Amino acid sequence: MNALTIKSLKSSVEEKVILNGVDLELPEGEIHIIMGPNGSGKSTLANTLMGHPKYKNIEGEALLFGEDLLKMKVDERARKGLFLAFQYPVEVEGVSMGHFLYSAVSSRNENGNNKDPKRIIQFRNSLKDNLSSLELSSDFISRSLNVGASGGEKKRLEVAQIMTLKPKVILLDEIDSGLDIDSSKLAARAIKDMRKEKISALIITHYPRIIDYLEPEKVHIMAYGKIICSRGIELAFDLEKKGYDWILKEFNSENGDING
Ligand code: ADP
Ligand code: MG
Repeated sequence: MNALTIKSLKSSVEEKVILNGVDLELPEGEIHIIMGPNGSGKSTLANTLMGHPKYKNIEGEALLFGEDLLKMKVDERARKGLFLAFQYPVEVEGVSMGHFLYSAVSSRNENGNNKDPKRIIQFRNSLKDNLSSLELSSDFISRSLNVGASGGEKKRLEVAQIMTLKPKVILLDEIDSGLDIDSSKLAARAIKDMRKEKISALIITHYPRIIDYLEPEKVHIMAYGKIICSRGIELAFDLEKKGYDWILKEFNSENGDING
C-alpha cells in the first residue's frame, strides 16, 4: 500500500504554474527525501498536498492510502493522518500549544469524553515527555503556540507536535534548517524512532547529515516543478560533492532544455 501516490500533479500560485506534473510514490513505512534547488517547488508540493488555499488550479492526482486527497478539506486531510511541518512555523497568539494539540487529538476522538480529567493529565504528561526528549521546556505547553520561540525552538516544537499527534504521513519542510548540530540530531532521532510505528515521511532537506542518519529508502530531486530523478541515498552525497548543475544538465539533455 502506498501512503502517497502522486501523479502528474500541477499547482499554481498567483496564476503562475509552479508544480508542473509531479510523479511520486511513497510506500507505507518508508522515508523519502526531496532535495532540489531553491525555488524548484518543494514547499509548493508540501503545501498543495496539505491543501493550503493559496495554491490553485490543481490538476492531476494525489492519493492518501488510496483515497483522493485533493477532494478533502484541510481538516479532513489532517484527520486522515497527514501532517505538514512548515518551513516557517507560524506564531499563533492566544492559543497555547497544549490547548491547540489537545483539540487536535480530541477532534479525532469524537466518541470519547474529551473532558475526562484523567485523559487530560495523560495527554499533558506525554506532551511533557516529548518536549523534554527534544530538550524543550514544559513552559511551552501553556505559552502561545510558537510565540517568542527561537527559530530552532520552533522547528523542535513542530517535531514535538508530530510525536504527540502521531500522524500516519508526515511532510517535513526543511525541519533541520536553522538547527544546530545537537538540535538536528534530536529532531532526527525523534523521526527515526517513529519508524517503529510505521510512519511514512516525505522530508525536504538540504543536509546529507540528516539523510545519513535517517537512512531513507529514496532520494528525489525536484527541479522545474517536477521530480527529475529518484535514486538511492548515494544521490544525496553525490549532490553534496558536485552540486545540482550536472543533474539538471543530464535532465535537460534527455528531455530538451525546459528553459529553452
Ligand atoms: P522551494 O521550496 O523549492 O524553494 P517554493 O515551492 O517555495 O520553492 O517556490 C517555488 C516557486 O514559486 C518560486 O519561484 C517562488 O518564487 C514561487 N512562489 C511561491 N510563492 C509565491 C507567491 N505567493 N507568489 C508568486 N510566486 C510564488
Ligand atoms: Mg521551500
